[in-house]
Amino acid sequence: MDKDHAGTMIEAQGLAKRYGRTQALAGVDFSVPAGTILGLLGPNGAGKTTAVRILTTLARPDAGRATVAGVDVVTHPEQVRRHIGVAGQEATLDPLLTGRQNLQIIGELSGMGRAASRTRAGELLEQFDLNQAADRVSKGYSGGMRRRLDLAASLMTRPPVLFLDEPTTGLDPTGRQRTWDVVGALRDEGVTVLLTTQYLEEADALADRIVVIDHGTVIAEGTAQELKAASGTAHVELTLAEPHPGAVDVIAPLVAGPVHTGADPRHLNASVNATSGLASALVRALDDAGALVDTIEVRRPSLDDVFIALTGTHTTDVPDAAEADGGEESRHAGADDDLEVRA
Ligand code: ATP
Repeated sequence: MDKDHAGTMIEAQGLAKRYGRTQALAGVDFSVPAGTILGLLGPNGAGKTTAVRILTTLARPDAGRATVAGVDVVTHPEQVRRHIGVAGQEATLDPLLTGRQNLQIIGELSGMGRAASRTRAGELLEQFDLNQAADRVSKGYSGGMRRRLDLAASLMTRPPVLFLDEPTTGLDPTGRQRTWDVVGALRDEGVTVLLTTQYLEEADALADRIVVIDHGTVIAEGTAQELKAASGTAHVELTLAEPHPGAVDVIAPLVAGPVHTGADPRHLNASVNATSGLASALVRALDDAGALVDTIEVRRPSLDDVFIALTGTHTTDVPDAAEADGGEESRHAGADDDLEVRA
């Protein structure tokens, strides 16, 4: 690892990639500090997988430069591969091998040695709750089990940098939460993670910083809080114990737009700047004016609001359990024009 880059584990500068007439990436910059999770958020076709493929040495950029652990991904791909784990597309799994064999082979091919591979495989099978299925061929695993095995495979060599390409697509809520717990624990151990996702909720739950990409371009960047704050207004809704003639004038100076009263005159709502302590200030002002407050809710903008503000479209919501598990098979299999043989 290049010591000059010890603080930044992943760096992308001006990455561009075209597939035929599709500009998959049109000059993307971001960096990921060591021991943090970057969420690369964007809708279908935004360019997330292309960015991951370049950073994991599976595709070459047409322009731009990228380093992982301080090592250039184009000039020293083998060295990069020694630092990284990649999960998400289940590309590394052999369906005809058992879960345990899959993990052991990956360890041995990575030069871990037989005994160490066996021990590490056992640990991961336990950690990912795959013990019961460990000696069955992975072809028969459920979608959720395959995803867990895939994630376990990426962790065999204890890589300091982990790329997770849509790790919870198609998982049910329990599987998703389990994956989030594992990824959070890895970050706590100091692993640097780049995670692509279409799910706002996932980026919100896991990522220290979020880069939003659309049509191959970064359209926003920040923490979930910063992105939400930048997307504009939050909203307050409150209900008074009794209608109060002065209530609108009392709260008007504290809110960001006109105060609306509902069909029930006890209900008031308004746009607000989502500042800390706002609910207290509103309740105190109303209380001082003799208007008792029964309920108050300040609804801050969600990341979905952010995405709509930025792109004018919704991104995908977390799927229902009904369509989960096994829904989504490897969408990027085949058709690759630039796949380099992995070491
Ligand atoms: P998804 O969430 O659907 O996986 P994504 O954000 O990962 O989307 P990419 O897979 O990077 O997006 O694709 C970006 C664009 O490049 C898309 O329009 C896609 O069709 C195109 N593309 C990606 N890989 C190839 C390829 N090998 N050949 C041709 N076009 C490709």
